[in-house]
Amino acid sequence: MAIEILTQQQESDLRNLLVRRRAFLKSALERGLHADDDVSVRGIAPSDADEPTADVDAELALSRLVRDQNELNAVEQALERVASGDYAACVSCGNPIGYARLLAHPSATTCLVCQEKRETSSGRH
Ligand SMILES: [Zn+2]
Repeated sequence: MAIEILTQQQESDLRNLLVRRRAFLKSALERGLHADDDVSVRGIAPSDADEPTADVDAELALSRLVRDQNELNAVEQALERVASGDYAACVSCGNPIGYARLLAHPSATTCLVCQEKRETSSGRH
């Protein structure tokens, strides 16, 4: 049985990817939080009622923060899985996730088959 296990080079490539992604998300989150402070300090825009999209912008910024925070959690978990040696295996079926898929989604925890199953079972109601 040939199981597709990551080579050391591939694993360290992916690990670097995750570390960079984590740093990027952390700084994005910090910037986002500070930007949010600015908005609340400034309060209502000084120039008339010229910014009808302000609330929408704030909501967008908030949802982006939530998304970044979720991804950061996923990246942290992936790095823990790298450390424990479980990284390349699907959490659902145990099959290899595959280097190409991990390159595209370094924080993926399932193989493509399980991912698609998950999406079809939770995606529609
Ligand atoms: Zn799977």
